[in-house]
Amino acid sequence: MLGLMMDQQLLISSIADHAARYHGDTEIVSLNSDGSQFRYDYSGAHGNMLKLAGALEKLGLEKTDRVATLAWNNHRHFEIYFAVSGNGQICHTLNPRLFPEQLIYIINHAEDKALFFDQTFLPLVEGLRKHLGTIKHFVLMEDHDSELAKTHPWLSFYGDLLADSDENYSWPDNIDERDACSLCYTSGTTGNPKGVLFSHRSTLIHAMMSATPDVMNFSARDCLLPVVPMFHVNAWGTPYAAPMVGAKLVLPGPGLDGESLTKLFLAEGVTISAGVPTIWGGLLDYLDANNIKLPDMKRTVVGGSACPPSMLDRFRDDYDIEVLHAWGMTELSPLGTVNNIKNKHLKMPEDELRQLRTLQGRPPFGVELGIFDDEAKQLPNDGKSQGDLYCRGPWVMSEYFGGEGGDPLVDGWFPTGDVATLDEDGFMCIRDRSKDIIKSGGEWISSVELENLAMGHPDIGDAAVIAASHKKWSERPLLIVVPKDGIQIDEKVLLEYYQGKVAKWWIPDAVIVTKEIPRNATGKIRKNVLREEYGNSLR
Ligand code: AMP
Repeated sequence: MLGLMMDQQLLISSIADHAARYHGDTEIVSLNSDGSQFRYDYSGAHGNMLKLAGALEKLGLEKTDRVATLAWNNHRHFEIYFAVSGNGQICHTLNPRLFPEQLIYIINHAEDKALFFDQTFLPLVEGLRKHLGTIKHFVLMEDHDSELAKTHPWLSFYGDLLADSDENYSWPDNIDERDACSLCYTSGTTGNPKGVLFSHRSTLIHAMMSATPDVMNFSARDCLLPVVPMFHVNAWGTPYAAPMVGAKLVLPGPGLDGESLTKLFLAEGVTISAGVPTIWGGLLDYLDANNIKLPDMKRTVVGGSACPPSMLDRFRDDYDIEVLHAWGMTELSPLGTVNNIKNKHLKMPEDELRQLRTLQGRPPFGVELGIFDDEAKQLPNDGKSQGDLYCRGPWVMSEYFGGEGGDPLVDGWFPTGDVATLDEDGFMCIRDRSKDIIKSGGEWISSVELENLAMGHPDIGDAAVIAASHKKWSERPLLIVVPKDGIQIDEKVLLEYYQGKVAKWWIPDAVIVTKEIPRNATGKIRKNVLREEYGNSLR
């Protein structure tokens, strides 16, 4: 017997409609590529979304056509998210930090039909254009510029698309919640990037859960500034969750340095933010150096890489800001776990609680996690057993776009490629990427833990730990550091710092001082590059 409830589809357009209907006057503040500011509200955004959807129709774009973006976090990018998906096309966000060859590969692989881009990326697009055979429309996300139109006859202008569109356009009614709405390629540290194709349904359920108190805790009283780029797994779903709850939204444009962010946080009364640890390091240094506090800021989500415990302490002790340490990946939309404690932890002794808060957190409803040994046998959630992390749930990918890489699932689980422990409450500790973990004399050493400790040292600006080949132990940890400005590193003193903090045999064998730790387009350490360069330095 079927339930007798209305069968309404969970569609991206319904979020925009809701925000316009009940939070129409809630502000959206956006910084353009040239630094100028634009302000309007959910009602204004909704009007533009519908106009843009009408314009997509006029351009001849059909259902499931991929529409790519190369853009910062700004109001036009926000409108494109909703107009494209709402209209039945697929919003394909491109990471401008990728190498041009990777962008060409991804755009051609996705067979994108249109490309919307910020002024900043005009030179990049000019260089790529001749390699992009499938793209019929190159749309600059600016008002009409007659000079540019003369020199670049192949360009369309966002402003013109809106101006020429039908005022009374309404969303098409042929979209099913299981249809695809957006596409994002994984960073691909090895091999070609692969596409993850999200559905309306998965995106809506993910956004609903992400707003709940034990996840990111967004409400209509919040002012949210997503530092995480809209080209990095849909800014972790925040552009959907904010209008869903009616939070004020601040879109920071390209200026993600400590000073620019501080100005925006203060001027707009930002209460919650989200981003990767590297960005927060820059912000904290700026706040320290200028003796500035952020009185409105209550919490920030930190994920994408392990948040060093020293960063958690700085946020809490010096700025009274709660860090929500989160773990996720593109294949999980991206939310997997967030660190929020339970009732039974409220009376926990301070140092134990501090330790608990350093973990990656626990899964919300909608994510099931398991750890497995080499024979795919599930291991207990005892906080000690370490194994390959698998997951499943309604916002977890089932296969890559275009069937790339074959069937990725193992008995219905998605193997994440991470190695972790889980305790009985589901609190997870990421020990490493499985290919980065150090196997010394048959025992495992977590490079993440050694990096976290190094990042807590006052002289260290950035750090990575890799497995270096070793005659006796097969692999040993090697610490690679970037000292803070003007600091000379003494290898012996630095290694002594690990004494008492980890088992003796975990202490790295040597230290290499370098100018920069190589990172990929989403800020993750490129350990393959480091291994190539330094992997034999202990032989
Ligand atoms: P991506 O799909 O580019 O977002 O990368 C996902 C990967 O980033 C995960 O599989 C983890 O290896 C890593 N990652 C994300 N968040 C964390 C975290 N909080 N701690 C440690 N690793 C993380």
